[in-house]
Amino acid sequence: MPPDDPGETMPADKTERRDLHTLTRGELQELLSGLGQPAFRAKQVEEWVWVRNARSFDEMTNLPKSLREELARRCTLGGVEEAARQVSSDGSRKYLLRLSDGVSVECVGMPSRNRLAVCASTQAGCPMGCAFCATGAAGLTRSLTAAEIYEQVMHVRDDFNARVTSVVLMGQGEPFLNYDETLAALRRLNSPEGAGIGARHLTVSTCGVIPQIMRFANEPEQFTLAVSLHSAVQRTRNALMPGVRKYSLVNLYNVMGEYVSKTGRRPTYEYALIGGVNDTDAELQALCDFCEGTLAHVNLIQLNEVEGSKFRPSTELRAQDFVRRLANVGVEATVRNSRGADIDAACGQLKQRILRS
Ligand code: SAH
Ligand code: SF4
Repeated sequence: MPPDDPGETMPADKTERRDLHTLTRGELQELLSGLGQPAFRAKQVEEWVWVRNARSFDEMTNLPKSLREELARRCTLGGVEEAARQVSSDGSRKYLLRLSDGVSVECVGMPSRNRLAVCASTQAGCPMGCAFCATGAAGLTRSLTAAEIYEQVMHVRDDFNARVTSVVLMGQGEPFLNYDETLAALRRLNSPEGAGIGARHLTVSTCGVIPQIMRFANEPEQFTLAVSLHSAVQRTRNALMPGVRKYSLVNLYNVMGEYVSKTGRRPTYEYALIGGVNDTDAELQALCDFCEGTLAHVNLIQLNEVEGSKFRPSTELRAQDFVRRLANVGVEATVRNSRGADIDAACGQLKQRILRS
């Protein structure tokens, strides 16, 4: 069939075309050599796909026009489309992105001075059902592919037209229930043949899926780990985070010890302060006991209010008590300011939506 006859070769159904993000280097080389192309083309195409985040084949100006047309007939460049964008008074931007099957996810860009941090999702929705989290309320729609995780970051980069300096996988979903795709996305974000972001500036946040924490400790890269703790009292944690009830705090304590001895890296514990629930004296004492003598950083967050939830944030004064008491037992703690709360873009405020096209 003549390659310059799009009417003849265009697949009837768009879904028959393969997303270039899903091809391995070997598969891409095979595709290109089948089209009579020299070996160096694969690298050129990969650079357009991963480094430049090309949105159309026309942009690929160093490829012959006939090849661009042939690729457009056979392949796609991913299916992430911006469905909505909101801008916070603090400059953060929240994006609602529609994926190729109509499922949507949210991600957030947070600029500050000459930095740009991105908060990306690893699943559409989340099955863990944490009581204080808007994402957990609607359950899981599906896990994301590595390319879909990666493309969120590139979308934010292109919208700000600025280099992304760090990524936190703290959007929707539990990354360790989607381990392989999350790791593949992190590797591409880290790679010079991708976004080129230093491994230490790539953070995974887990609600504490213990087997995967050990697996993560054994990865060769120096990615950063954050664990959502939210209470060091078993009963409180069970109520707040029913999805990790089967992984007890004792086991979490032990695995974090192993993580630190294996990696030498300091993990972060996320602790959203909820008035009268996990900010009492007994809770503070338990938190001090859990962290004392370990290598850890405690990130205290004032609970972000979620529509329909009975939970309220603690007072600022109480947060400062936590910082002081933790410091007294030698544990570094900071109170983190939430970004984008006015547009529901802060931690735990990302809701699951299904878009109909
Ligand atoms: N599932 C992973 C990562 C996504 S949630 C995890 O749970 O770690 C990202 C962070 O937001 C977690 O620390 C989570 O506990 C926190 N979070 C969820 N709901 C929140 C809320 N309403 N206020 C403040 N933080 C919240
Ligand atoms: Fe899922 Fe994390 Fe929300 Fe819990 S806090 S429901 S694990 S996204």
